[in-house]
Amino acid sequence: MSTKPTVATIWLQGCSGCHISLLDLHEGLVDLLGAVDLVAMPLADVKTIPRVDIGIVEGAVANDENLEALEHLRAQCTTLVALGTCACYGGLPSLRNLHRVEDVLRCGYVETASTVDGAVPIHAELPHLLPTVRAVHQVVKVDAMIPGCPPESRTIAEALGALLAGQLPKRHTHNLCVECDRHKDALLKPTRDFVTQDVCAPNELEHIDPDKCFLEQGVMCLGPATAAGCGGRCLLGNMPCRGCMGPTPGALEQGAKMVSALSSILPAGGLMFMEDVVGSGYRYCMATSIIPEALGEEA
Ligand code: SF4
Ligand code: SF4
Ligand code: SF4
Repeated sequence: MSTKPTVATIWLQGCSGCHISLLDLHEGLVDLLGAVDLVAMPLADVKTIPRVDIGIVEGAVANDENLEALEHLRAQCTTLVALGTCACYGGLPSLRNLHRVEDVLRCGYVETASTVDGAVPIHAELPHLLPTVRAVHQVVKVDAMIPGCPPESRTIAEALGALLAGQLPKRHTHNLCVECDRHKDALLKPTRDFVTQDVCAPNELEHIDPDKCFLEQGVMCLGPATAAGCGGRCLLGNMPCRGCMGPTPGALEQGAKMVSALSSILPAGGLMFMEDVVGSGYRYCMATSIIPEALGEEA
């Protein structure tokens, strides 16, 4: 009988991108599969998850089926890992928390431009949407988080390596700006000469200086409110950070952290935030912001 650690994975409300990132380990998968017994995953037709050492969950908790699957995995595993920003912070699916369930269903099944005589499907066997989408740790105890949308394959491999060695994966406590090597000279000086009334989308600028901080160029970048650890993937492609790693550990919420950062470069910072409040602070973490708490109390 094998003595290797056993692993089971599930996906809830997400896009499967986190599992794809796991598969993107390519030949690294051979090492991983040599080190563990992968007893259940969504790509395998396993009806009941047995007792396992490590449970990995991708996606947020959006409906009663998700809830049941998560509670079952939690009961069956010793260590539960939230994989990806949907699982860690609610991610993109939790933008649904800005709307009432009945409005979401009507929008999806009745009001789309291509729908004729649409109706919201009702059947006892269909999953029911929960009033709000929740991150995994808001429902059950989570032992480790691997944020990212999706997390990089090497990050997943490092985290699993740590878990197999009996340690918890390291979390970056600093923000992305700390490891961003773009010049931020003006941002750090008392002068605010660079601050203008103009707020630009990257595609509106004829030229984006690849060596200069986006905020200094009038482009919103969520680096100050976003946990480091992705290697600045978007910045390397000369695109600003959208915050997919979620907030730094200990931050009240990503949006509030961004408001705090932008308040030091008023008025441009305020204009940037107001241009797209959700996209500027809550795109990936609505479930864990203080806003859905307020919505939940109303519901
Ligand atoms: S974190 Fe991103 S990649 Fe992973 S399931 Fe959610 S949307 Fe998909
Ligand atoms: S705001 Fe963006 S571009 Fe500027 S230093 Fe931070 S991560 Fe780099
Ligand atoms: S730069 Fe920002 S949006 Fe891009 S991968 Fe990193 S955390 Fe995500």
